[in-house]
Amino acid sequence: MWDSSSDSDRVALIDALNVMDPALGRALDPITELAAFTFDVPIALISIVDADSQRFISRVGLAVEGTDRHASICSWAIGSAQVMQVADLREDPRYAQNPLVVGPEQVRFYAGAPLLTRSGLALGTLCLMGRAPRVLSPLEVQQLQTLARVVMAQMELKMSMGRREQVTGLPNRQQFQADLDLLARRAGDGHFTAVLLDVLDAHSANDAGQALGMKPVEALLRQSSLRVQSVLQDQAQVYHVGVSRFAFFLVDQDRTQVEALLDRLRERMRRPLMAGSVPMLPQFHAGACHFKAVAADTNDLIRKCLVAMQHAVQTDACLCWYSDERDARLRRRYRLASDAARGLAQHQFSLVYQPRFSLHDGMPVAAEALLRWVHPMLGPVSPGEFIPVLERTALMPALSRWVVDHALAQLALWQHALPGFGMSLNLSPRDFDDPGLWEMLSTRLQAHGLPASLLEVEITEGEWLQGHPGAVPQLRAMATAGIRIAIDDFGSGYSNFGYLSEVPISLIKIDRSLVTGLARSRTSRLKVEAIIKLARQLGYRTVAEGVESDAELSLLRLWGCDEAQGYLLARPMTADAATLLVDACRAGSPGEDTA
Ligand code: C2E
Ligand code: MG
Ligand code: MG
Repeated sequence: MWDSSSDSDRVALIDALNVMDPALGRALDPITELAAFTFDVPIALISIVDADSQRFISRVGLAVEGTDRHASICSWAIGSAQVMQVADLREDPRYAQNPLVVGPEQVRFYAGAPLLTRSGLALGTLCLMGRAPRVLSPLEVQQLQTLARVVMAQMELKMSMGRREQVTGLPNRQQFQADLDLLARRAGDGHFTAVLLDVLDAHSANDAGQALGMKPVEALLRQSSLRVQSVLQDQAQVYHVGVSRFAFFLVDQDRTQVEALLDRLRERMRRPLMAGSVPMLPQFHAGACHFKAVAADTNDLIRKCLVAMQHAVQTDACLCWYSDERDARLRRRYRLASDAARGLAQHQFSLVYQPRFSLHDGMPVAAEALLRWVHPMLGPVSPGEFIPVLERTALMPALSRWVVDHALAQLALWQHALPGFGMSLNLSPRDFDDPGLWEMLSTRLQAHGLPASLLEVEITEGEWLQGHPGAVPQLRAMATAGIRIAIDDFGSGYSNFGYLSEVPISLIKIDRSLVTGLARSRTSRLKVEAIIKLARQLGYRTVAEGVESDAELSLLRLWGCDEAQGYLLARPMTADAATLLVDACRAGSPGEDTA
């Protein structure tokens, strides 16, 4: 009866364009009323025909809001581009038994003009019904057709609202997604590539916005959008999907073609643009992702392009392709961040302790508390992985408080079993944003009757201190009370003795990357020896982390390093195992000879 291929296209379009939105119907009511009035008919309708039914989104003179598809006369009318009229429905076997004809409405006459999109697809009709047989004159047919075009124009206008970006006038992210949805519903063959690009880095945009106001920045974005459009020309529609982000998709282009196109685009984009009177160098970072025209691919496409584009931003590359592995890593991080609070409540976290030994007499002097997390689905997750993730969340201070609580409770137990045995804790920069940190530490120490001198706080080296103004006063308060401050992972990054004078440091922990394999690397040997000597001259004690061989231990001892920590001496272990080990060492029968 009706063409099912255009049927699925129509249903897709109706969905994508949100034609059933009641606000749209209300906006169309005056046209429906005008139709009833002009043609002097009791019933005028705007009927949208989907797979199984027709909905009257605007109606005059009819109580029902729709009918099922089989009772729809309009279903016949949408099959042609012309007005369909039936002078007397009772005389036509297709409609003689139609409920509108035989039911209380007693409809006899029908004329319907299809509502055609620009691509020629009929969404439904503007139709007239009368209770007496009638034939429209050619002029009336033309008038009805014109009114149907007015309906379509109004619909398109309404539908494009909220789908354009004000600054550039380009279709926005909602339109991008709507067009993708449509593509997926049409389920065409072929392969596609979506590209997302950022033309301004957030810092420059912010600086320019603050200095010049938003107008010049917007002008700059407009110029950028014109450049993108001029390179793409007829190849793709450009969408403005974020403040300085544009997107488009390409059809049947292989990787090399996409890369060549993006090279051309970058060339064009890299020329300076004016923001007010300041010439600015636009950025160019793009993320690209291949996809098929199926919902499973298109639903998540912007996110995938973002993953790829963020990679390009981080590596300062022009273009990065989406990678499943990278995505999986990001999602895993996100999962860790979102599961951590529950993990803490459900006791999935625990502490292990790695003893540290004096290189002067071989005795264990303290243990470093190290966090462990056994995730119920992912299994053990290393703190090297989850700490950097949680440091970006609001949970970090709570987790650190948990560590302080548990570690100090353990230290209190050790003061009975192993008097004088110390403990070191790792604190992250985020912890110093918590103004109550120092107070909490000191309250806990007092509650357990512990001298502050048994506790050591490890902070990583680095410039983070400048970004955390609360840190230095808190560190000073701790040091004044007798807690020792250690710089962890020294030598792993941008090492600098200069900033140490700002912080009351007593100890430097030389990073494992310099210590492990020390005996085989001349550079590491030179660095470690220099660090130990300089630290000693500056009055800092030194601890070498990651000691894995006797050769490393001998060299460290030779250079005058004070303490060592590493798998050679003891691995991180439970509190009970650490107690036994320290006990045995003190009793003169250490598991391993370390001195
Ligand atoms: P870190 O503070 O530098 O801790 C030393 C890390 O080196 C530990 O890794 C330890 O198990 C490992 N290690 C010790 N000796 C050796 C060795 O000989 N060979 C090798 N290959 N590794 C050795 P872990 O426990 O995986 O912790 C990694 C990092 O996570 C820590 O590095 C620390 O930065 C962070 N972390 C652990 N627990 C906490 C915590 O409670 N709070 C905070 N903020 N960070 C923590
Ligand atoms: Mg540490
Ligand atoms: Mg370390």
